[in-house]
Amino acid sequence: GEDLPLPSAPRVFTVANQKGGVGKTTTTVNLAAALARSGARVLVIDLDPQGNASTALGVEHRSDTVSVYDVIINDEPMADVIQKSPEFEALYCLPATIHLAGAEIELVSLVAREQRLRTALDKFLDESPEPFHYVIIDCPPSLGLLTINAFVAAREVLIPIQCEYYALEGLSQLLNNIKLIERHLNPALTVSTILLTMYDSRTNLANQVAAEVREHFPKEVLDTLIPRSVRISEAPSYGQSVISYDPSSPGSLSYLEAAAEIARRGAPA
Ligand code: ADP
Ligand code: MG
Repeated sequence: GEDLPLPSAPRVFTVANQKGGVGKTTTTVNLAAALARSGARVLVIDLDPQGNASTALGVEHRSDTVSVYDVIINDEPMADVIQKSPEFEALYCLPATIHLAGAEIELVSLVAREQRLRTALDKFLDESPEPFHYVIIDCPPSLGLLTINAFVAAREVLIPIQCEYYALEGLSQLLNNIKLIERHLNPALTVSTILLTMYDSRTNLANQVAAEVREHFPKEVLDTLIPRSVRISEAPSYGQSVISYDPSSPGSLSYLEAAAEIARRGAPA
């Protein structure tokens, strides 16, 4: 693959959208794989109790696997919990197990409950013998303490938007919530990237939605669109990103191009 410019400090993204099924996990996994293939060291943090990102990356996440739950609740060092993906040398995953579902409630009574992930991640990145270039956090669809932990740990928010009728519904709610986090918990948080997903160029509707999102967010929306593609939806059942599963498919090429855009744009000022 093409070698992309590497950031001088780790770029930490939270992939967020309060809707389910818009392509958060798919985007997390495939962007991470695309960045890893282009020469970056990448960590995916699976913060969704469903563990879909862990599954898609082919890492172990049985109920007895040490996981992100242990990092957030039991102060387990992240370095002892991350697993290398079988796919790429420089792609790692902090897996999620079903225990994470209980963390939402257990967090409530913990000290600095919004900062737990950030504290663990900062320490991990500081102490890592080899630098990481990207950290991508996959969030559950709800705005609970797990998602808040992700927003506090990240500098950048990446919002995947599905090119369909209700795409913009709920988006202002999400942006308001991000503003609140920025004001009270993480002043550096920025919506740096919007990615249009599941795009079907044959429908007028998809084109209208894409145009509308671009009009509202001219700086944030990537030029690259992710097409609706069966290859993209098949890949996770093989524990692979589409980048490995079908490298020359349009879905794979679009995620590689999106990764290249993100790398070339660089971190927000
Ligand atoms: P979320 O994490 O936001 O809930 P997912 O990434 O799990 O969403 O995607 C929801 C469903 O849509 C999954 O079955 C996934 O395989 C499928 N999907 C995601 N992106 C695409 C795409 N570009 N083309 C076809 N199917 C997709
Ligand atoms: Mg998901």
